[in-house]
Amino acid sequence: MRDGIEKFIQPHLRELDGYSAHRSPETLEGKTRVPVEKIIKLDANENVYGCSPRVQKALASYQSYNIYPDSTQTELRKAIASYAGVGFEAVVVGNGSGEILDLIFQLLVGAGDDVMNFVPTFDMYRFRAQLRDARLVEVRRDEDFAIKVAQAKAAVSPRTKLIIITNPNNPDGSLTPVRDIRALLETRVPVLVDEAYYEFCGETALPLMKDYPNLMVLRTFSKWPGLAGVRAGYGIFPPRIADYLLTIKLPYNVSAAAQVAVLESFKDMEYLKSTVNRIITERERLISELKKLGWLRVFPSKANFVLCVVLNGKAGELREELQRRGILVRFWDRPLMRDFIRISVGKPEHSDALIKTLREIGG
Ligand SMILES: *Cc1c(COP(=O)(O)O)cnc(C)c1O
Repeated sequence: MRDGIEKFIQPHLRELDGYSAHRSPETLEGKTRVPVEKIIKLDANENVYGCSPRVQKALASYQSYNIYPDSTQTELRKAIASYAGVGFEAVVVGNGSGEILDLIFQLLVGAGDDVMNFVPTFDMYRFRAQLRDARLVEVRRDEDFAIKVAQAKAAVSPRTKLIIITNPNNPDGSLTPVRDIRALLETRVPVLVDEAYYEFCGETALPLMKDYPNLMVLRTFSKWPGLAGVRAGYGIFPPRIADYLLTIKLPYNVSAAAQVAVLESFKDMEYLKSTVNRIITERERLISELKKLGWLRVFPSKANFVLCVVLNGKAGELREELQRRGILVRFWDRPLMRDFIRISVGKPEHSDALIKTLREIGG
């Protein structure tokens, strides 16, 4: 029996299956054979090179933490607009791109509406849809993770309020061809393209915005500039939509620290580009080394991670064994994903340690 305050909980939230966040190293104290500070964390696509050293200094010397940050995010939005090559009115910044996603759902999706996504993909969309009591229309990708466009279009109904394309897709790193994005935009349903890994591939849907007023693009500072812990992300929208999002957001959703960190990152593009390039180079080397093992099927990737099928079917056990030996990779105990592990691209020495450990474990 639910009693007291519990019986007042919204029915659709009672059985909610939350987003399973990564295991943070601190929670693994005593569970691995290596000390916590030696753990190699390749499970959350974070940037192993860290943020720009200039960001560390700027955060330490900032003098106005006692003052509320600019609720209209003017300086930040201008800097992002110039970086992305769009108008200032198009940009909205959030506490991570996750917050922007949440705002989009609040603006466009109500109880009983349809939200379409293409699985397997980033699980956050499912989670946000369920929070809104929306109906999730999950269109299965093919075995190479390509979107089945005809099937998707056939599943669009007047109740469809949002279509989400992750590009490159997480967990596999594949790109959706522009013609497929166009085809989905032709439905006139709002289409959100999540470009969290844009800087690792250079492909963007932004040029389509002039033809399609139903296109929205989501980006983050969590990956390429190494600010996952700071929390900052942004979206690019038709200006009217951006206005609404700015109206419904919490006034101080982007902290002063996040504003300082992002602005400073833009002043150190040389450094950040060099770390992105190192990660891209290392991605290709990691893929070829993983293939040599012979017991993983390795997918090509345009992002900062690599997806593998564990051919003996023991992906979950492999994850646990790697964790015992101090290397964290991503595994999902979910129907479509049980044979996979996803490995974030680290420094060359991280790949070397991983490959050595995988050889020891064997397939
Ligand atoms: C990592 C990631 C994000 C980033 O989310 P933040 O809230 O900005 O940290 C967004 N989308 C996808 C697909 C991701 O993999």
